[in-house]
Amino acid sequence: MIQVTKTFLPPKEEYEAILQQVWDSNQIANGGKLHQKLTQRLKDYLNVSNIVLTTNGTLPLQIALKTIAGAGEVITTPFSYVATASAIVWEGFKPVFVDICPEYLTIDESRIEAAITENTRAILATHVFGNPCNLEKISEIAEKYKLRVIYDAAHAFGVQYKGKSIFKFGDISTCSFHATKPFHTGEGGAMFCRDQSLFEELFYRHNFGHKGQLEFQGLGINAKMSELQAAMGMAVLPYVEQIKEDKKTVYAWYDENLDFEQIRKQVLRPGASLNYSYYPIILSNEKLLLKIEKELNLKNIFPRRYFYPSLNNLPYVRKVDMPVSESIASRILCLPLYSGLREEEVRTISRIINSNLKE
Ligand SMILES: *Cc1c(COP(=O)(O)O)cnc(C)c1O
Repeated sequence: MIQVTKTFLPPKEEYEAILQQVWDSNQIANGGKLHQKLTQRLKDYLNVSNIVLTTNGTLPLQIALKTIAGAGEVITTPFSYVATASAIVWEGFKPVFVDICPEYLTIDESRIEAAITENTRAILATHVFGNPCNLEKISEIAEKYKLRVIYDAAHAFGVQYKGKSIFKFGDISTCSFHATKPFHTGEGGAMFCRDQSLFEELFYRHNFGHKGQLEFQGLGINAKMSELQAAMGMAVLPYVEQIKEDKKTVYAWYDENLDFEQIRKQVLRPGASLNYSYYPIILSNEKLLLKIEKELNLKNIFPRRYFYPSLNNLPYVRKVDMPVSESIASRILCLPLYSGLREEEVRTISRIINSNLKE
């Protein structure tokens, strides 16, 4: 069976050797040694000045939103994983969707200003499939209207924009270290923020609001990464470059084998690097997508419909039309892409897709 992705598991002996440190220290939570080590390793690897490690990639979104005083509206993309929109609703804000750009698949910055009202507090946009949003334009708009910018960078581990870590953009960036993402700690995530006082706020909020043991700075929650998660991260991190190289090779095989007369790919934003985390193809219509999906499934190959449905159609948001996002969501399919996928398997998948295009 070929799934859309395959979790990378490090050699068990290596994981166990790192786990031994947890047994040695007898500390399993609350910023133990492995947590500290992983924090430092990630700072070095990503070249960022600060990072808060978290339990998953959803809590950072909630915590980032919590740093905005009061309620109001948050401008967001309808084309992302559900967590982007659900976090907004969960935190008591109203999501205001702005349609996406059909080439980059990120929020269409040219439509943001029209969606701003006196209640707008922030922009929460996703670097979808690791492709950066229009960072310059969004930052300009945010400055003009005094809005906070939060980037859901769950897909963007290792991505650089004009030579800088993608996590350095926006007021706050969040990432997911879920098993399906480019770097993982089993479950896990992180938040990044350059402003020191905002960083400190993120930090205390992810640890119940603690200032010291007996003092509280403000309202917090528990989003702390455990030593067991950090141990997995320490075991996986040495392999991320190799995994990326392997995926780059698989990616190139698809590029060679697919018939691009009737398939479109997401356009990479100029200045951005690719982390090869997904291989989405955009087909001409949903009927064709369903046919291709069915044919692949018959051969035990399981691509995934990332991201469907368009988030403006969630049952708990106010209905609005987002024609571009809805159209893309109905006909985009992510093909299997992982370290270990073989060339003949990519050829088979490509052949099945190509032959269905022709009919
Ligand atoms: C995976 C994902 C999340 C959630 O991350 P978890 O670690 O699973 O909580 C949030 N946003 C996007 C865009 C994602 O793909």
